[in-house]
Amino acid sequence: MINTISVKNLHVSYYGKEAINGINLSVKAGNLVGIIGPNGAGKSTFIKALLNLIPIDKGEIEIYGSSINDVRKKIAYVPQRSQIDWDFPIHVLDTVLIGTYPSLGIFKRPKKKEKEWAYECLKKVGMESFYNRQIGELSGGQQQRVFLARALAQQAEVFFLDEPFVGIDMASEETIIHLLKDLRDQGKTVVVVHHDLSKANDYFDELVLLNKELIGFGRVDDVLQPEVMMRAYEGQLSFMKEIGVHV
Ligand code: ADP
Ligand code: MG
Repeated sequence: MINTISVKNLHVSYYGKEAINGINLSVKAGNLVGIIGPNGAGKSTFIKALLNLIPIDKGEIEIYGSSINDVRKKIAYVPQRSQIDWDFPIHVLDTVLIGTYPSLGIFKRPKKKEKEWAYECLKKVGMESFYNRQIGELSGGQQQRVFLARALAQQAEVFFLDEPFVGIDMASEETIIHLLKDLRDQGKTVVVVHHDLSKANDYFDELVLLNKELIGFGRVDDVLQPEVMMRAYEGQLSFMKEIGVHV
């Protein structure tokens, strides 16, 4: 199978302080991959670096064998909810329509066809009856579903979602994971930053365990081994107990 994402010797720092230290990995198409690790481990930084949203110190990143800027249309990104300005006045359908922009070209406005497609995508996440609401009026789970609809509208090949399940209701979480598994089954690549390890087995095919460095990477069962987890969550024994890993 094709390598969707290939990362070699990636280093990222903020003001001279290292956040990502020498990561190598490759992900194949048709995988649902979880990125786990403690707070501040560099999970969001890693995704932003892959998307070329922040400068890197060194390393090579290829998506489908090309640089991200050449394949940007194929990549959808749902940022952490805390990073989105929910007071920004925009309707639900318009939010989803933004997903169609990459394929529209710069000077074209979305027409009936794009609007119908955006509405279809809202249906997939069960949010069509909210199409003319302000995004700020929705619950956390509804907002997250709308952002997933936007990613679906983009018809991307690779999906990055940063902590999509934080602060949302169980029904929304189930809708979202179901759709992500569908995308995976269609051969797309889905990468999700996640911290609730109890569900990692149900949700993901592979796990990336980060703590500045790459601590573990592979099939979920291989990464969720106490001795591997200990290396990432060192000094956080209460957390280890909480997630059911006994050491
Ligand atoms: P995670 O998503 O795993 O919680 P982050 O990638 O957000 O971790 O952060 C990794 C480290 O980089 C943390 O120590 C964080 O404080 C720092 N960091 C993240 N963003 C910035 C920024 N914009 N400026 C300076 N430091 C940052
Ligand atoms: Mg984060």
